[in-house]
Amino acid sequence: MASHGTDPYAENEDQQALRELARDVAARELAPRARHGDETEEFPQDSWDAMKKAELFGITIGEKWGGAGMGDIEAAIVLEELARADVSSAILAQLIFNGPPRAIEHLGNDAMKDKWLPLAASGDGLFSIGISESEAGSAVNHMRARLTPDGDGYRLNAYKNYVTGGHKAVACLVWCRFPGSEGTKGIGAVLVDLSADGVTLAGTHEKMGLRATSEAELAFDDVWVGPEDVLLAGDPDSSESFKTLIGHINHERCGNAAMCLGAAQGALEYAIQYMNDRVVGGKPLTSHQGLQWKIADMTMKIEGARLLLQRALHLAGPHGTPPPLETAIAKAAANEAAKFVCDEAIQLLGGYGYSREYPVERTYRDIRGLCIGAGTVEIQKNFIGTNVLKGGTTANPAWKTGPVS
Ligand SMILES: Cc1cc2nc3c(=O)[nH]c(=O)nc-3n(C[C@H](O)[C@H](O)[C@H](O)COP(=O)(O)OP(=O)(O)OC[C@H]3O[C@@H](n4cnc5c(N)ncnc54)[C@H](O)[C@@H]3O)c2cc1C
Repeated sequence: MASHGTDPYAENEDQQALRELARDVAARELAPRARHGDETEEFPQDSWDAMKKAELFGITIGEKWGGAGMGDIEAAIVLEELARADVSSAILAQLIFNGPPRAIEHLGNDAMKDKWLPLAASGDGLFSIGISESEAGSAVNHMRARLTPDGDGYRLNAYKNYVTGGHKAVACLVWCRFPGSEGTKGIGAVLVDLSADGVTLAGTHEKMGLRATSEAELAFDDVWVGPEDVLLAGDPDSSESFKTLIGHINHERCGNAAMCLGAAQGALEYAIQYMNDRVVGGKPLTSHQGLQWKIADMTMKIEGARLLLQRALHLAGPHGTPPPLETAIAKAAANEAAKFVCDEAIQLLGGYGYSREYPVERTYRDIRGLCIGAGTVEIQKNFIGTNVLKGGTTANPAWKTGPVS
């Protein structure tokens, strides 16, 4: 009899327990509130409190600061489970797991770590990241945010848009130009306390989805930045800091992919349950081959993208950074899988799929934003295409053989 090998990405006991915990919090606390947050655009405070009570926020933060010191795999497990129920709430955990706190721990100075990481680990503070500007989204190297020297520190002048959670966060990691910077040279990042003088919440974007977690426009007018607030200094003669920051976004891209796959999995399972219950013209929906094929296509898309994500996560190792090519492939594949699956889930529910009384249309609207945030699908494909054309390869050994003739 043929024997099966083991799944190289099988979860260990701790990871399984973490998944169970996150699934329980998502089902009991997040799912029942998700529609309310979507309808009202109210910040999901109760969901935040539930995630905090379950001690989920600290999982990726070092034990020294009150966290559990886990890595990207565990972050993805939790994000998948939370996003099955409510992507608006999951994105708050994403900001803690893969946003500024992760960057602070990997790249920051000791004072910065001691000041901010305990707040992140305990769930006492949300963190935000300010990269995008109205004239510098995909073309991030066109940013205008700038520091000017002042004493032993700087003054920051910047206007950042689409700052997820910026209206509620305690701090924002602002990417900006250090004195003398041009192009990608001299771009670095500073951590700004959002209660500081000169910081203004200029507004929040009105959006299609992810409506419970707003994206803010933040203005920084002559905001003081001390030496201990510099996460990574930009050198006007070098693009190294910019490259480091871009590389670090791979954590966020993997988290984004995990949320897409969790949301898509939730939509698929909702559609399966609906098809089992729904009888049309005397026949259950599950009996139609055309609809069975939809379920097959949805399953194939999710499973394919999940394997790509698992590879990127496992290549990162427990405390490393996911590699750029594998991450870009996983992010783009997960975005496209989620768009396809959530769209088909709406179709499978017929008119009810289009109704706001059923969750699948909200999931579609939510994941739509994830196809734009953390680097659009097109920007991932630019990176994949140019790399592969230049001879870049993934970790897959098949690439290394070269053309047959
Ligand atoms: C839900 C959500 C959350 C976000 N959260 C944050 C956040 O917390 N912090 C933050 O800083 N930003 C955030 N953003 C902003 C996001 O990073 C930008 O929207 C994104 O980088 C695209 O920039 P843009 O909107 O200016 O679009 P543009 O750059 O104007 O792009 C418009 C279109 O052109 C395509 N395009 C642009 N350049 C190219 C190219 N060279 N080749 C091919 N296609 C191209 C894009 O893919 C897109 O389809 C968020 C966005 C969303 C939707």
